Amino acid sequence: MVTTLITFEKAARIALFSLMPNRPYHAQWMITRKCNYRCKGCNVWQEQDTKELSTEEIKKGLDILRDLGVIEIVFSGGNPLLREDIDEILEYASRFFVTTVYDNGSMAAKKIDALRNVDFVAISLDSLDPAKQDYIKGVKGAWHNAMEAIETLHKNGIRVGVSPTISQLNLYEILDLTRYFLRKEIPVWYCLYSYDCAPGQNQLFKIGKKNDEFTITDYEAMVNLCDSLIALKKKNNNILITSQILNAVKNLYLTGERTWKCKALKSFFIIDHRGRVAGCHVQDPVASIFDLPKMWDSPKFKELRKKYRECNRCTYLCYIFYSLHGSVKGNFQIAEENWRSAKLFLKGDSVKFPGLVKTR
Ligand code: SF4
Ligand code: SF4
Repeated sequence: MVTTLITFEKAARIALFSLMPNRPYHAQWMITRKCNYRCKGCNVWQEQDTKELSTEEIKKGLDILRDLGVIEIVFSGGNPLLREDIDEILEYASRFFVTTVYDNGSMAAKKIDALRNVDFVAISLDSLDPAKQDYIKGVKGAWHNAMEAIETLHKNGIRVGVSPTISQLNLYEILDLTRYFLRKEIPVWYCLYSYDCAPGQNQLFKIGKKNDEFTITDYEAMVNLCDSLIALKKKNNNILITSQILNAVKNLYLTGERTWKCKALKSFFIIDHRGRVAGCHVQDPVASIFDLPKMWDSPKFKELRKKYRECNRCTYLCYIFYSLHGSVKGNFQIAEENWRSAKLFLKGDSVKFPGLVKTR
């Protein structure tokens, strides 16, 4: 089992803020739009923007997030590992936050030293079929790159997981893919294809692209997949999705009813490469990260939270996760499900710290 070493300061901070109500728990930061892949379900590579925050600005932003009480940060993009200063950013972020970084499989093996600092690396892999993976990613060799990255990181003791995006294209093979990586003791952490962006301004903030091939049409298969994963979870702790989420998704596909209220801009929010903040990437930016301290308790944000609470535009699993679990009670639920699989050890100390594992 891979263990994650964290400092006493970080462990204490996570424990303290996990128990504080009305704080944002999670931020996803798309720190660049640079990308070397051409994925069919993504508009990022088609809509590039070279303007992005400097290293110092990102560190200042991280200080703001730390003071606000954020405990977990996910770096995505574009491909965050394409930033030249990524080593410095990850080292700084991982001092304070449970830190996760996404890679499409092309860069992680070249960034081993930087990735030793983070708590979790998610490699995007949608299929065990090389031709299908390369087709979805729009790049020849994508499958080979991802498999090699997973193996290299795993061998080097870095906590790496496979992150398939469930869509109609791979729906029938998700269970096989899951079992394949469970046998290798590699965690699986799911995304769900969802396209819910209205056309309009701020397209750069959006990351999804409408693609009918991906839209799930076989609801029965989706319901069966949720049931199978719930059953598998009982025997294996490396399925990094909670039963509550699987039940919520199952219910959605069975009845069309949502059993959760969205907590965008409350438990979670998103930041783009220019430092603009939104409740999620589907909604418009509402502030700069540098204005967050004064905006967080503002009447404008309170109004937006009420509006997002009733929103039903998307089914992104990470947003469902923080809507269902983004509370003190939720943190305990995650801990209960994951304590056995996510043991965080204090650096230079033999005391075990039962921490939260990123799950979505
Ligand atoms: S999905 Fe990720 S890897 Fe693929 S093109 Fe978009 S940003 Fe790049
Ligand atoms: S349901 Fe929540 S996360 Fe999804 S689009 Fe609406 S506000 Fe954003």
